Amino acid sequence: MRGFATTLDYTPGGADPNGYPSRMSPASSPQPLPSHATPIDGKALAAAVRADVTARVEKLAVAGRRPRLDAVLVGGDRSAELYAESQARTCGKVGIEYVLHRLPSDAGYKEIAGLVLLLNAEEDVRAVMLHLPLPAGVDTERIQSLIDPGKDVEGVNPANIGNVVYGRRSLVPCTALAVVEMIESTGIDLKGKRCVVVGASNIVGKPIAVLLMRAEATVVSTNKFTDDLPAIARDAEVLVAAAGVPQLVGADWVRPGAVVVDVGIHRVEDDAGARTIGDVRHDEVAPIAGHLSPVPGGVGPMTVAMLLRNCVEAAERV
Ligand code: NAD
Repeated sequence: MRGFATTLDYTPGGADPNGYPSRMSPASSPQPLPSHATPIDGKALAAAVRADVTARVEKLAVAGRRPRLDAVLVGGDRSAELYAESQARTCGKVGIEYVLHRLPSDAGYKEIAGLVLLLNAEEDVRAVMLHLPLPAGVDTERIQSLIDPGKDVEGVNPANIGNVVYGRRSLVPCTALAVVEMIESTGIDLKGKRCVVVGASNIVGKPIAVLLMRAEATVVSTNKFTDDLPAIARDAEVLVAAAGVPQLVGADWVRPGAVVVDVGIHRVEDDAGARTIGDVRHDEVAPIAGHLSPVPGGVGPMTVAMLLRNCVEAAERV
């Protein structure tokens, strides 16, 4: 649905509003898991979230408050452009309006910050996100920290991450929300469960660990300096692989019956062709794990669904 998408081009002589190129990355379908683990079907879970979001959007629209996502894109990075296109279509499908604010690639801190502050001040703007990368030399975290925490639907403002730690009502980083909802979808009661999170970045690994702590799990956060990681991981009833290292996690990392969530996304091309793989060696882990999320078709679609849900939550709060 294109009717809800708008592009505001701040580039002198820039692209035509709504002139999205039609070519998109071919959608790859999840590869079947070889053996025993029950797949944690991110696509099906995301579809259920989208159905809920659609109903909530319609309710808001009837009240004259249709949710809208205002996204900022600086420069012409191809991946960011593709992401913005796909975001416009996804928002359209659930009835969320999408406005893309474009700045030229030579925009500096002042211009980007100015646009973010303008969006913060606009009463009609309820949901703001920033496409990455920003131009070299612009401090991304400094810009992210300017986004009004109540409009920060990606949960990238440190204030929102702090709110997650304190258990306050806030917009939680989308991938972390996706991972925890996927774990809970298996029916596991996280209280007291031993959870190991491999990877501790500010926007992925750390918020996942904090959300698991909030569920009163026993959480070990690990990183590239952790010694003997396979032995630590083997103890986990829940293992989250979010290191950004292709196929890091093999059979010797996994406790039989464990819930394993693969957050990694890597596009590879070799003799077997072009495909997307994760941080987990699925052929080795599937026969051992109890539940395993596929790549693609796992955390990716759920992360997008969580962004949509955050947009609705931001709009509902008014
Ligand atoms: P990052 O590079 O910012 O952080 C990686 C973390 O993993 C760091 O804490 C690092 O210390 C740790 N690490 C690196 N090598 C390690 C090793 N060998 N053993 C243990 N820990 C190691 O990456 P990120 O932004 O957190 O992303 C991680 C992965 O998640 C990437 O593959 C990224 O593409 C993917 N990702 C997926 C989604 C999604 O929607 N599915 C969203 C965001 C990120």
